[in-house]
Amino acid sequence: ESEKVETVLEKQGKVVVGGESRILVFVRVRPMNKKEKELGSRCCVKIVNRRDVYLSEFANENDYLRLNRIRGRHFTFDASFPDSATQHEVYSTTTSELVEAVMQGRNGSVFCYGATGAGKTYTMLGTLENPGVMVLAIKDLFSKIKQRSSHVVHLSYLEVYNETVKDLLSPGRPLILREDKQGIVAAGLTQYRAYSTDEVMALLQQGNQNRTTEPTRANETSSRSHAILQVVVEYRDRDSSMNIVNRVGKLSLIDLAGSERAHATDQRTVRSLEGANINRSLLALSSCINALVEGKKHIPYRNSKLTQLLKDSLGGTCNTVMIANISPSNLSFGETQNTVHWADRAKEIRLKVSDANEDVLPIPETDRDQAKLVLELQKEN
Ligand code: ADP
Ligand code: MG
Repeated sequence: ESEKVETVLEKQGKVVVGGESRILVFVRVRPMNKKEKELGSRCCVKIVNRRDVYLSEFANENDYLRLNRIRGRHFTFDASFPDSATQHEVYSTTTSELVEAVMQGRNGSVFCYGATGAGKTYTMLGTLENPGVMVLAIKDLFSKIKQRSSHVVHLSYLEVYNETVKDLLSPGRPLILREDKQGIVAAGLTQYRAYSTDEVMALLQQGNQNRTTEPTRANETSSRSHAILQVVVEYRDRDSSMNIVNRVGKLSLIDLAGSERAHATDQRTVRSLEGANINRSLLALSSCINALVEGKKHIPYRNSKLTQLLKDSLGGTCNTVMIANISPSNLSFGETQNTVHWADRAKEIRLKVSDANEDVLPIPETDRDQAKLVLELQKEN
């Protein structure tokens, strides 16, 4: 079993080096909840060998060995997490390598996909006692930066709801998306300079409170709200020839809206669903994924706010990780099946990870001499 885990990590190592790769896809099953138990539901998901997901609507989890895979379907992912997996295991297998890459000036993105109630927000944000990927990534980032003091971290946290973009760190008027030379940016978005994990944790919990809720269920985040945490890490230092080196990496951590009813792939269904005011951003995301899978030249990023914001996180120029969240209960079997199918398809997306976003600015000769002199004096002392 330890061998299997190693292959997963090895693969991840490869992904962040740059060059050709593919999206990494993970599945996480959450524990059966009280309601599901009360309704006497069966567990229809079995994780085998830490990688394979076995789905069977009519079998019981315990039938797995007995039936010997006869009646269900198998899917293989880069890793699959059973309901006993800890937040730490999920973070370190899916995201920790990306944090390292972002510090070196590369972009990365992690998104959670799945039906409402499947565990996306738990995986991404988590709770105060069991913080999720967003918080663990920042914590890890700060502990790594402590050893290397030339990094600056900025955070932005935003929401896409009904095709409006909202700043979760400073709620107010909707933000307008603009195209600049770095790509598509939300004008006026708060870029919060972060110094410590504790402060960030409070900030994110607060930001999450600002997510849109449905009028009928005031305490629950709307199932149609997407949240994106952008972590920008800037590195500025001098190389051995005293040139200024400037690197910027961006990590996007995304808690998507509930995927129910958003699996349509053909354009006619997509349009009729849009007419019915179903989540346009999520439909656009699946259209983009389909176009990427099919290797199409034109990827319809412009169709929604979410896909515009994720353009540089999906377009194959960055390391992309998808975590598909599912419920173990047969009551959600249809959704689970859809989510796993979609995740299986996402494995086909090829990425071409670009080089680090790095500028080397030669400094003027005079400054260089002076800088050298300072260094030499330091050495002598
Ligand atoms: P989603 O964001 O996909 O709608 P949530 O993350 O809010 O779903 O999860 C629904 C409920 O299940 C929450 O109360 C959450 O705390 C709980 N939950 C989800 N995943 C887990 C898990 N792995 N372990 C324990 N509780 C979980
Ligand atoms: Mg949620």
